[in-house]
Amino acid sequence: LGRSLRASLNKLSTIGGASEEVIAQVLNEISRALIESDVSVSLVKQMKDKIAAKISLTSDSHVNKKKLVQKAVQDELVTMLSPKTKPYNMSRKKTNVIMFVGLQGAGKTTTIAKFAGYYARKGWKVSMVCCDSFRAGAFDQLKQNATKLRVPFYGSYTEADPVVIAEKGVAQFRKEKYEIVLIDTSGRHRQETGLFEEMQEISAAVDPDNTVFVMDGTQGQAVYDQAMGFHDAVDVGSVIVTKLDGHAKGGGALSAVAATSSPIIFLGSGEKFDDFEPFNAKSFVAKLLGFGDMRGFMDELESVKDKDAEKRVQANMAKGKFTFRDLYTKFESMSKMGSLSKVMGMMPGMSGMANMMGGMNMDEKFKTWKFILDSFSDDELDGKVDIHTAPDRQKRIERIARGSGSHPAQVEGLLQQHKMWAGMVSKMGKSGLMGGVDNKQM
Ligand code: GDP
Ligand code: MG
Repeated sequence: LGRSLRASLNKLSTIGGASEEVIAQVLNEISRALIESDVSVSLVKQMKDKIAAKISLTSDSHVNKKKLVQKAVQDELVTMLSPKTKPYNMSRKKTNVIMFVGLQGAGKTTTIAKFAGYYARKGWKVSMVCCDSFRAGAFDQLKQNATKLRVPFYGSYTEADPVVIAEKGVAQFRKEKYEIVLIDTSGRHRQETGLFEEMQEISAAVDPDNTVFVMDGTQGQAVYDQAMGFHDAVDVGSVIVTKLDGHAKGGGALSAVAATSSPIIFLGSGEKFDDFEPFNAKSFVAKLLGFGDMRGFMDELESVKDKDAEKRVQANMAKGKFTFRDLYTKFESMSKMGSLSKVMGMMPGMSGMANMMGGMNMDEKFKTWKFILDSFSDDELDGKVDIHTAPDRQKRIERIARGSGSHPAQVEGLLQQHKMWAGMVSKMGKSGLMGGVDNKQM
């Protein structure tokens, strides 16, 4: 998915002011890439419509459409992976019974071991019950895992009725005040009615606090129907996706969430007990989209934000306004540009300032000023409170100095600088100079 999606997004960047037509084309390509990545067709269609609507609402031609589409796709996928249903929250004051369901081979038994290890490490009293009396060797597998993890287990070589095993096992661990009881069930081969009936009977017998649907991440489009089947049979409350280590494309996860309206709580990424991590929708989507390097992606998004901020500064300056927030934005873009001496001329009146300040270390100065501005309130930053003329000016200065670990005299110094710059901007704004200057220099 990554490559083709990036390719289609790149197309947007090469075409200046992307037309509706181009955006539609790119959205089609993204849709195709998502479907290839096992996201269900109907989900992709829903998503596409939402994104198209979002983008056409943004008529501003200056906005970078590539970034907009990118961000819209990311946001939409994250939203889809974050159902309104909150994950079941285990309480340490009771016995939390958690039943694991899913097809045979999905990774239930392995996931139970990972889950047990994860919480045992955090100090929870964990136990396991093997209700898979269908597959030969199922009990041995669970027993081995439990022994390795030093977690107590319950099961039987002779009892054929999983409901009886479940009842006895849960009763015993309840009595012994275990905080977590994990119930392993049989998956069989297909979604036979027999399997679902068995699950329902076990569920009715032990009344689990949560039922976790374990799905094989390498499964394709079939996941949606599968997840639906399990959700209809028992009350699925969470999803765990396994086998995301190999060639899994991961799109099935979205389908599982959509089908069960349940959140994904963990991901499995290998056969070892440690190959297990809590689910994070944002980084999952980043991987799904092939941006892998999340940092790079975030930087790109950041630069969209920067552009928005720059636009706000320009709009303000054109009106002869220059707030502390604008000043902050200026400091930020200057420090990103590298050498400050090179960009000194970009501040109104700064070339003169540079001379005035002589040998002073400007980078240090800017850093201090940014710290100081971080301690401004929003109202102060936006000029809703004019700190220069506020009756409690001195109090505010002291608060800001305290908050930023600086001396009130340094805050005073920044205020004086701002006053000077704001005065210049105001003059330039009034004389209509800014319009011509800011595009080139600011
Ligand atoms: P169950 O039938 O649902 O209980 O599935 P198992 O837990 O027995 O797992 C079936 C197979 O998948 C086993 O060989 C596991 O080692 C393997 N498996 C489980 N989870 C993962 C995973 O996250 N990654 C990989 N690569 N293999 C896994
Ligand atoms: Mg099993």
